Amino acid sequence: MDPVLLVLAYSAGATVLAAAGILPLLGRERVPEAWLGWSNASAAGVMLGAAYLLAAVGIGDHALALGAGALVGITFVWWAHEVSGTGDLELNLQGPSAEGYGSDVLLVGALHSGAEGVAIGAAMAADPVLGAWMAAAIALHNIPEATLVGSVFRARGESPQRIALLAVVSNFPIVPMAVSTFAVVAAAPAVAPWAVGFASGALIYLVTVDLLPESYRQAGATSIALVALVAMGMVAALQELLQ
Ligand SMILES: [Zn+2]
Repeated sequence: MDPVLLVLAYSAGATVLAAAGILPLLGRERVPEAWLGWSNASAAGVMLGAAYLLAAVGIGDHALALGAGALVGITFVWWAHEVSGTGDLELNLQGPSAEGYGSDVLLVGALHSGAEGVAIGAAMAADPVLGAWMAAAIALHNIPEATLVGSVFRARGESPQRIALLAVVSNFPIVPMAVSTFAVVAAAPAVAPWAVGFASGALIYLVTVDLLPESYRQAGATSIALVALVAMGMVAALQELLQ
């Protein structure tokens, strides 16, 4: 298959799989808060593992460009949070909430998934096997993330069908970001360490600023640390398969 089509197929698959995040929400008004914490922590762990894998494969002789790319990625996510006014957004499961809260939650999800699209595109350009694993890891982590975001909308009385649709829509930036990152890196390989650095920096920043602090409040530090570290270790161990 044409490699660009492959990136398209992987990233579209990762986006659509987010719809499975509604499964825990079926038949109940809300899921227990601890479940949400563990959803958060498993997504965070996968993202940390993905950042590690990308950096480990991409570092080569380009540590400086990778570090600079990471700074750009971190600055970009911080800036986007500031500009969109979503820096302090927390998941409010009680309602009522300010007008525009729902669209802010989707905006944060879209921003978040854009960084994950860069990770898939950069990984595919570095190594097709790494790219396939990266896409699988991002796809799997989209499920608990969608449960988390979906529970906000469930608490506001949205139907499961609509929540599934919203989950796919808020993950859609994965597709254009993966394809364009892959195309740019394939055309200009000198950009590769920058793209890898950008994705790693953005993923780690999202985890430390958005996902983990919230999950600690939902399920307590010990279980969150365990779930996040086991998820991270499972993804990081994929490095063995790449050698
Ligand atoms: Zn994520």
